[in-house]
Amino acid sequence: MSKYKGKRVLVVGFGLSGVSVAKYMARQGAKVTVTDMKQKTDLQASVNACADLKIEYELGKHNNKTFHTAELIVVSPGVPLNIKPLEEARELNVPITGEIELAAAALKEPLIAITGTNGKTTTTTLVGEMFKADDKGAFVGGNIGRPLLDYFNEGLKAEAIVAELSSFQLDLTEKLTPATAIFTNLEEDHLDRYPDMQAYTHSKKRLLRACDRNSFVVLNYDDPNVARFAEETQGKVIWFTRRNPLNIGGAFAENFCGVYYDSPKRRIVARVTGKEEIFDLAQFRLFGDHNKENLMAAMCAALAMGVSPKAIQTVINTFKGVAHRLEFVKKKDGVYFFNDSKATNVMSVRKSLESFVASPVILIAGGRDKNQEFTPLVELVRKKCKILILLGEAKEKINRAIGDYAETYLVGTFEEAILLAFQKSRSGDVILLSPGCSSYDMFRNFEERGDYFKKIVNQL
Ligand code: ADP
Repeated sequence: MSKYKGKRVLVVGFGLSGVSVAKYMARQGAKVTVTDMKQKTDLQASVNACADLKIEYELGKHNNKTFHTAELIVVSPGVPLNIKPLEEARELNVPITGEIELAAAALKEPLIAITGTNGKTTTTTLVGEMFKADDKGAFVGGNIGRPLLDYFNEGLKAEAIVAELSSFQLDLTEKLTPATAIFTNLEEDHLDRYPDMQAYTHSKKRLLRACDRNSFVVLNYDDPNVARFAEETQGKVIWFTRRNPLNIGGAFAENFCGVYYDSPKRRIVARVTGKEEIFDLAQFRLFGDHNKENLMAAMCAALAMGVSPKAIQTVINTFKGVAHRLEFVKKKDGVYFFNDSKATNVMSVRKSLESFVASPVILIAGGRDKNQEFTPLVELVRKKCKILILLGEAKEKINRAIGDYAETYLVGTFEEAILLAFQKSRSGDVILLSPGCSSYDMFRNFEERGDYFKKIVNQL
């Protein structure tokens, strides 16, 4: 019998993850109540998805008493953990958890968990594709848009679970033990929700602490914030680096376990399984060094989990990238348009600018600020950007930080931004949407923003 049977379970937040939890709990025989500050009319898709289930709704409000009397509260990643009714419930010792933790507790399959500031979705997708190319079914979910509990709700069967985990999701995990954990990189982000960088790092470290002696821990050697995790884990470290370990030398070179980019030969050398494997990048289509990092991270996990080198090479040769991540849209009159709408923080804008080596860039940036510093972009803007076009809530702030380092325009709409960029462009230029901000000032999400950009560009 399910341990949730007959229990009063409160689901806070009724987006994708909330729906999945509500379904899971209702099927386990729990007494489910769903609450969300949004009105029912704004949650119609979620309500419809649960139409055949017996659920109580408290929508458009939170009812404190329901929080106090619940036997388990499951919070969605979009809901801040310091809202008053949750704090009160915590004081009353009501257990509070998240969807990922519920799924992890029920999983028997090995879990590959991916976190970091940037590159999570690309890396997660790559790992999933590598399993698929090897005829090993993997379920890919988490922050990538498919709740992990869907695996159970839909009665699926896979050899491994590949999960992208955001820091908000990690904040609510306690007991999950990954077979492999990947840390892509770590930089300032989400400082609108965390008090400081330390708190944000702490949240990411929950995944590190979750690893036991049998876990593989994939770390970015080139990122000092991540590399230092090696000293703090009991797991087996696998490195990825863009530097040849022989040049790093010493014990590191001798005992090197991981993969590195051999840039003169455009290939990746892997020493993960005890045997050296070579991967050729001649047909790898994704731009930028950061995507080589994502590929290496994915490769470390796949090799450790027994995926064949042949399958990995197939993915290198055929992977087309994920939409909205430095996505090539079209070439018109010799001008290249790229949609990088998912670049919602300063680090990702930096990586995108670094990816363009020879072409002058007309950068379209701005949106809702996440309390970030934009000054780290100064040098790159000076070197790479011919023109800056700023829009959205953060345009004045960005202008103050970097506006002096390229010809800069502040505009009101996306149409204006794109038309102006195109007018000012010459053959050989790149027009890049890489906002460095969230999209919530003008759009529902980054996908809607990227799709809108592509629509206007395709009408030019
Ligand atoms: P996430 O899921 O962590 O947001 P994505 O794979 O969706 O990561 O990529 C988001 C953006 O971050 C991309 O558009 C790109 O600009 C940048 N990016 C991707 N991979 C990396 C990386 N390894 N290091 C730094 N920036 C990256």
